[in-house]
Amino acid sequence: MVQYFDVIVVGARCAGATLAIRLGNAGHRVLLLDQGNFPSDTLSTHAIFNNTVWELKDLGIFPLIPELDAPPVRNVLLQFEDVKIEGSLPPIKGEEDSYCIRRSYLDQAAIQKASEIPNVTIYTKVRVKDLLWDEDRVVGVKTKDALGQQQEYHSKWVVGADGRNSTVRKKLKLKPLIDVPTDFACYFTYIEGLEAKSEPTFEVYRIYDRTLVIFPTNHHQHVVFVAFPLANRLWIKEFGHNSKSALWDFLKTQFVEIKFNNRLHNAKIVEKIRGLTGFSNHWFSGIGKGWALVGDAVIFKDPALAQGIHDAIYAGKILQPILEKAMQTDEIDETQLDRLYQEQLQAKFRERFELGIALTKNNLMSAEQKLFQQTISQYPEAVEKFLGFYNYANNMDAVTQIVRSIIEQAQIK
Ligand SMILES: Cc1cc2nc3c(=O)[nH]c(=O)nc-3n(C[C@H](O)[C@H](O)[C@H](O)COP(=O)(O)OP(=O)(O)OC[C@H]3O[C@@H](n4cnc5c(N)ncnc54)[C@H](O)[C@@H]3O)c2cc1C
Repeated sequence: MVQYFDVIVVGARCAGATLAIRLGNAGHRVLLLDQGNFPSDTLSTHAIFNNTVWELKDLGIFPLIPELDAPPVRNVLLQFEDVKIEGSLPPIKGEEDSYCIRRSYLDQAAIQKASEIPNVTIYTKVRVKDLLWDEDRVVGVKTKDALGQQQEYHSKWVVGADGRNSTVRKKLKLKPLIDVPTDFACYFTYIEGLEAKSEPTFEVYRIYDRTLVIFPTNHHQHVVFVAFPLANRLWIKEFGHNSKSALWDFLKTQFVEIKFNNRLHNAKIVEKIRGLTGFSNHWFSGIGKGWALVGDAVIFKDPALAQGIHDAIYAGKILQPILEKAMQTDEIDETQLDRLYQEQLQAKFRERFELGIALTKNNLMSAEQKLFQQTISQYPEAVEKFLGFYNYANNMDAVTQIVRSIIEQAQIK
């Protein structure tokens, strides 16, 4: 028997599960599919700033997170060589706390929330292998489950929320609108016993061409993430040979400027090392005949910005009313819908995507950038605006303006 839905969402993590919640709450029959077995982890260091916490609370997901022993974080330290920018992220609609919650807990809470909606059907361990077509229109998906059983599901819309390497996007044979490869390799793991800051802090150090990121997470552990140029074949080889000892050596020897070695005396790596040697910062079209893309499937940017989870959730917030509008009419103009979707994606994400592209390139800091950061670091009101760029409290204009006025004041004196 053919099963028919309004919308099939492929991928049930932050983009897919949250879009299914929104569409389900609006009364649509939604099929949410994922090849994964939940609860499970995914390739992500999973820091969420307070803007994302607000979105998760708004969707009713946050109270369902099963293990909330990750500490609330209010302090952020960004160090660019010897310039330290430290302060609090500006509150977002009254929300002050940021977290770093394991994806096995966060994504499970999102799926649980979706499962509470009667018109949302969820199948996990089901892989979408192909799309179903009626001439040039997508009308469903072909799947295979863990037992090898094949199935077809039909729908008005198929949404690819299936991540950076989206199968839906590949089957559509889409070419990227923007595609900028990174110059960096990155690796991360979990550490116990790391000497922590006196208050929970998100720490990011960019020392010449090396990056170190430390986030306090569940179970009194820290996520430790490092990045270095892909051109450094020696370290790539070391990580390929024995990633655990390579990461340990890297942490001990490559951040002497911040004496990171001193914080490792009682520390030990407690999980396998995961990483990426090369990825693309990409941006695709988002809507076509019977299909749409959301989350990393449509836009992926350097993880250094730590906004991937937020942006995946927010893109669903943009997409939902557009799909709703499309489902209310028989005369759909997909070109117009795509334009509308792109305009809103651009307005929300383009500025941070551009910063991601700048960060993804192995360019050392210019004297001008250094002066900019030094100025910010000395003025709490500038620090607030600078950090506010990261959690969407303000745009970069506000940072530039405040730095300009500080420099002008200094010149008058
Ligand atoms: C190294 C690294 C560190 C990161 N750190 C952070 C961070 O600290 N903070 C942050 O906000 N973001 C971070 N990100 C980004 C963040 O993880 C992503 O932006 C976010 O997970 C995107 O969510 P998504 O739902 O679009 O895709 P995903 O989370 O990738 O989920 C896609 C889902 O689709 C499913 N799927 C894929 N193909 C199929 C198929 N054919 N059939 C069925 N199901 C399928 C997968 O099983 C998966 O569950 C990081 C990313 C990387 C790579």
